[in-house]
Amino acid sequence: MKKIAIIGAGISGLFIANLFKKNSDYQVVIYEKNNSINLEEGYGIQLSVNSVKLLNEIEFNKFENARKFNPKKIIFFSSKNFKKICDLNISDFNSENCQYTTLKRSDLINFLKKDLENLIKFNHNVSSINKENQKIQLTFENNEIFECDYLIISDGVFSKSRSLISNNKSQPKYNNTLAIRGKITNSSEIDNENISLFLGSDFHQVIYPVNQNGDLNFIAIMKYELTLEQQKNYSLFKENSFIRKVLEKVPKENKEFFDKIKEFKIFPVFVSKDFFKTNSDNINFIGDAFFAFPPSFAQGASQSIESAYELYRSIENNSEGNFFKNRVIKTKMVDKRSKLNQFAFHLSNPVAIFFRNIFLKKLIKNKKFLDTYLGKIYNN
Ligand SMILES: Cc1cc2nc3c(=O)[nH]c(=O)nc-3n(C[C@H](O)[C@H](O)[C@H](O)COP(=O)(O)OP(=O)(O)OC[C@H]3O[C@@H](n4cnc5c(N)ncnc54)[C@H](O)[C@@H]3O)c2cc1C
Repeated sequence: MKKIAIIGAGISGLFIANLFKKNSDYQVVIYEKNNSINLEEGYGIQLSVNSVKLLNEIEFNKFENARKFNPKKIIFFSSKNFKKICDLNISDFNSENCQYTTLKRSDLINFLKKDLENLIKFNHNVSSINKENQKIQLTFENNEIFECDYLIISDGVFSKSRSLISNNKSQPKYNNTLAIRGKITNSSEIDNENISLFLGSDFHQVIYPVNQNGDLNFIAIMKYELTLEQQKNYSLFKENSFIRKVLEKVPKENKEFFDKIKEFKIFPVFVSKDFFKTNSDNINFIGDAFFAFPPSFAQGASQSIESAYELYRSIENNSEGNFFKNRVIKTKMVDKRSKLNQFAFHLSNPVAIFFRNIFLKKLIKNKKFLDTYLGKIYNN
């Protein structure tokens, strides 16, 4: 029986653990640095059909319907006057068992961890990773040592494991944007059937339902310069004076939404700069530890799930060598689209906005374009 160690109990680590758990050739343990799994409420996740299809392999299709939602459309609005620009039928990519899904992150995590309770070792922060012949030895800050045949690193965008095994100490970079997130309950003025995307100047906001109770997730991405010092100061984002300063920069038309937001939080968005390939086929990265994208294509969780699935299959088929190469190709495609979306969503020149809106209306009805731009990502 092969021993699998997973570092990090986020979406990618939990999903790959579920896959290995079903296969009796493997014994799996997840090491999580915290003393519990972060179940922050109010934070929504969008899952496109590529990841829903893979989640269905662990019976996501049987997960409580009341706790998820299947929006049919993304409706684009101008942030300036709230006028609709156009809408995109994302349900065109759905199949009977596999539909674009939105839900609370905490509900997805609860679903992923429900069969793993005794496989997660909390309070385990890795301090060194060594490899001798084919065996990998992990040492934790509590001095425990564990040996495994495969190491799967899913410890997020600031991956400590990456720094432990790489000489390249390159850190993720600040995306020059802040994310402002929260939830909206019982608002009759906001569409609670679809995803509403408001395009503003250096700013966009997305509102979507996360369950059948009418709860809505709010997320705004706003351009905001931070000094290097501010980027590292995590307590800054909780300071009232800083929050006030950020809110002053929110375009005035959008401020009315902010009165409706509950459990409102601000955090800086960090993205990956590069890929890192280990010299060993039996040590691999998945999820944000492999690569973290700008959030404007809503593919972070879906790609975390896809990377976990691809790695599972390649280990099962003894073809780990192909995992990295194929993952880089898909990641580059998603990254390019995420950057392009952010650029187009945040235009501020009125002439550029005028032409963007004309293009958007045309492209959204063009099947060939949609099959290339979205279909290539949503089909796996
Ligand atoms: C503003 C914003 C909005 C987003 N919206 C969406 C969206 O709508 N749709 C979508 O698909 N994605 C979205 N994402 C992205 C998505 O949330 C992430 O891509 C996804 O959660 C990554 O999962 P992960 O498992 O790789 O990492 P994480 O969720 O970061 O999990 C990493 C885990 O590793 C643990 N860990 C860290 N260090 C160690 C260590 N040294 N030892 C042991 N354990 C460790 C952590 O405690 C954590 O539990 C968004 C991201 C942002 C920033």
